[in-house]
Amino acid sequence: MYLTKYFLPILKENPSEAQITSHRLMLRSGMIKQSSAGIYSWLPLGLKVLKKIEQIVIEEQVAAGHIPILMPTIQPADLWKESGRLNDYGSEMLRIEDRHGRGMLYGPTNEELVTDIFRSHITSYKDLPKTLFHIQWKFRDEVRPRFGVMRGREFFMKDGYSFDMDRESAIHSYNRHMISYLRTYERLGLQAIPMKADTGPIGGDYSHEFLVLAETGESEVFYDKKVTDSSLGERKIDYSDKQGIAAIVESFTQPYARTDETHDQNLFNKLPPERRLSARGIEVGQIFYFGTKYSESMNAEIVLPDGKRTFVEMGSHGIGVSRLVGALIEANHDDLGIIWPTPVAPFLAVIINLKHGDKKTEKVCEKIYENLVSAGLDVLYDDRDERVGVKFATMDLIGIPWQIIVGPRDLSEGFIELKFRKDGKRTRISFSDCSSELLNALRV
Ligand code: ATP
Ligand code: MG
Repeated sequence: MYLTKYFLPILKENPSEAQITSHRLMLRSGMIKQSSAGIYSWLPLGLKVLKKIEQIVIEEQVAAGHIPILMPTIQPADLWKESGRLNDYGSEMLRIEDRHGRGMLYGPTNEELVTDIFRSHITSYKDLPKTLFHIQWKFRDEVRPRFGVMRGREFFMKDGYSFDMDRESAIHSYNRHMISYLRTYERLGLQAIPMKADTGPIGGDYSHEFLVLAETGESEVFYDKKVTDSSLGERKIDYSDKQGIAAIVESFTQPYARTDETHDQNLFNKLPPERRLSARGIEVGQIFYFGTKYSESMNAEIVLPDGKRTFVEMGSHGIGVSRLVGALIEANHDDLGIIWPTPVAPFLAVIINLKHGDKKTEKVCEKIYENLVSAGLDVLYDDRDERVGVKFATMDLIGIPWQIIVGPRDLSEGFIELKFRKDGKRTRISFSDCSSELLNALRV
C-alpha cells in the first residue's frame, strides 16, 4: 500500500478525552473514531488489527473442534421473556420496538438465541457434544463507557456456546475452551492469566476470567508468582484427550490467581511472601459452565441412550476481540507509540524513502515494494513528500514491526537499512541481493 493512496488520519495533538495510553494511541494513529459515547468507527489501520485478532480467534476455535455460525445483532425480546432475563438485564440492554410494536433488542450476549437454534434442531445425545460460536457486535449500555475500545457500549466479541449430554462431557468442553483461549492469547503475544471467577448461584469451580496484567486494568488481581511461569509454548494439543486436557488445565489453574471479586486473603497469606503478588489486570475473556440454566427455562431437551429425556448441559465462553486491540497496545508500547507484535501488526514492514523526489531512491523503494508484495508480504510504502523526522515519528507511532529505510547515501555504498521497531536495532543490508536478505530478515 502506498501511503499517499491510503487513509491514515494521524492526529498531531494528544486527544484530551483519552485517559489511558491505548485510547490515546488508537486515536492518534487513526485507528478509530468515536461516533458517540462508547461507539466507534474502525478506520483502515484499526480494522486491519481487529481482523487479524478475529482470524487468530477463529483458527484456534476451529482447531478445538468448535463450529462457526453467525447470529444477528438484533434479537426478539420474546426469547428473553422465556429465559426470564428480559427484566433482569436492566438498563444495560438497548431495547427497540419495530414498526409493528414488537419488542426487539440489540444483543448483549446470545445464550437465548443459541438455545433456540439448538432446541429447533438437536434432540438426541447422538448429535452431541457441539460447540457453536460466533464473532459479532454486542451492545451493552454501560454506565461509564471509557478507555476507548476497552469499555465500549458497542464491542466485538467472540461468544461460544457448548452443548453436552452430561456434566463430565460439559467439563471437558470447558477445559477445551480454557486451553484454546490460552493458545489464542499466546499467539497474540499476550500473557493472559486464568483467574477463578464468581459462578453466582450455580456454584462450583467452573468459571475463569483471563486477565492481562497492565497498570491501567480495571480489576485488582492477586496471584501466585508461579502462574506467570506457565505457558503452552509449542506443545501439540490433542483436544480429544480428556485426561491430557484436564491435566494442562490443572497446571494453569492450581496456583492461586483471583481478581478482587473472589479474592480470599487468608488463602493468599498461606503462600510464601515472596510469591504473593498483586497488580492490575484487563479482562480479555471469560469461560463459564452453568449447567441447565437456559436449557431448563427454554426447554431444550435431549434424549439419552436409555431413552430418558434430560435438559442439555451448557456453557458460554467469551473473548473480547475489540477490547484485545486496546489490551495489546497497553502491553506493547513505548514513549514513541505502539509496538505491534508481528502476528497482529497492520503491516509487517514499511518502506521509508529518505529523499522524496530523488529518482534513484524512489526506484529502489518501488522495486523493494514490488518484491515484497509479490512474496506475499503486507507492506506499506511511505511515499509522502514529508520531512524524514515526520516519517519516522509516524511509523514509530503506528508501530509497524520493521522499517526498511532507503536513502541516497546508503544506496551509493550499496546498502539499505532495516530497523526493528521493538528494540530500535538497525542492520545494514547490501542492496545488490536485498530481496533475499531482506526477505529472510522479515521472515524471522
Ligand atoms: P466486564 O466485567 O469487563 O464488564 P463482563 O464480565 O461483563 O466484562 P463478559 O460477559 O464476560 O463481560 O464478556 C466477555 C468478554 O467481552 C469480556 O471478558 C471482555 O473482554 C469483553 N467485554 C465485555 N464488556 C465489554 C465492553 N463494554 N467493551 C469491550 N469489551 C467488553
Ligand atoms: Mg466477564
